[in-house]
Parts: sequence; structure tokens; C-alpha cells
Amino acid sequence: MEIVTYPDPILKKKAEPVDHIDQDMHDLIESMGELMYRSSGIGLAANQAGVAKQVFVFDLDYREKGRNLNVLINPTIVLAEEKIEPEEGCLSVPDFLAKTTRRRYLKVKGLDGNGKPIDIEAEDLLAVCIQHEIDHLNGTLILDHVSHLKRNLYKRRIEKLMKRDR
Ligand SMILES: [Zn+2]
Repeated sequence: MEIVTYPDPILKKKAEPVDHIDQDMHDLIESMGELMYRSSGIGLAANQAGVAKQVFVFDLDYREKGRNLNVLINPTIVLAEEKIEPEEGCLSVPDFLAKTTRRRYLKVKGLDGNGKPIDIEAEDLLAVCIQHEIDHLNGTLILDHVSHLKRNLYKRRIEKLMKRDR
């Protein structure tokens, strides 16, 4: 499994809800976790691994505290408060930082890796991470948060790189 990067069309696709959790889903979650740690990311949505399903994994402080993979399936934001403007990067948009508008405080519900309903209360970096991953599940990238001009510059940079590598 490799990280899918821009401009792969799956990143623009709205992910399908997960209707049952079987062995394939457990395997997918495990592979996504491995891929995220291997890529030094703090979050990874399934479409970044080539699967358009509503699931993402995250682990904010594994470098300090050891690995503890969190999973959220079919997430819904229940409450979002206080505007902030963080700077975000994305494994699928290499060498790019975007200033986004997010909420600092979040309540989210969904299912855990075993299909059990969970509620998550998130602040600051965790809240931003969850909003970033939910964006992915809706087919939205950090590139969609920046100006047309900045997006086009990045697009051209990537096109040049792709031509060179061909
Ligand atoms: Zn991302």
C-alpha cells in the first residue's frame, strides 16, 4: 500500500459509508495504520490509501508516547466551535502548506474499529486533524482551502515533476 497523492481522482471522490465491519475492514485499518506510521503522518483517510470508504486513522503523539492507533468510521460532526486558522500539510499533497479555517473545539460521533458507537471530544490539533480527515472523506483537500492562484501554482509544479519523472 502506498500513499495516493494529488492529482489522483480518488482524492476528489466522496467516500461511501461503511455498512458492516468484517475482516477486510480490520485488514484495511491495520494497513492504513502501518502506512500512516511509515509516512510519519498523524492521520490518514482511506481514500489516501486508495479505498473510498468512510474510515480514517489517527495518532497524534506516537513519537512521544508510543503507538496507539485510533480509528473513526462514518464520522459525523455534532458540534464545532471557535474559529482558528492553522497551517496544515497533507501526505497526499507533498511539499505544500495551507492556511485553513477550522474550528478549535469539536464533538464527533461515529464507530470505532469494532463497529461500536463512540463520541470524541477534540480540541486544538486533534480537532484540526479530525476536520482534515473528514475533509478527505468528502473529497476535499487542503488545496481546496487556498486561493485559485496558489492552487494553480501547485498544480503546475506537480505537472512539471510528473513530466520529468516520466
Ligand atoms: Zn491529508
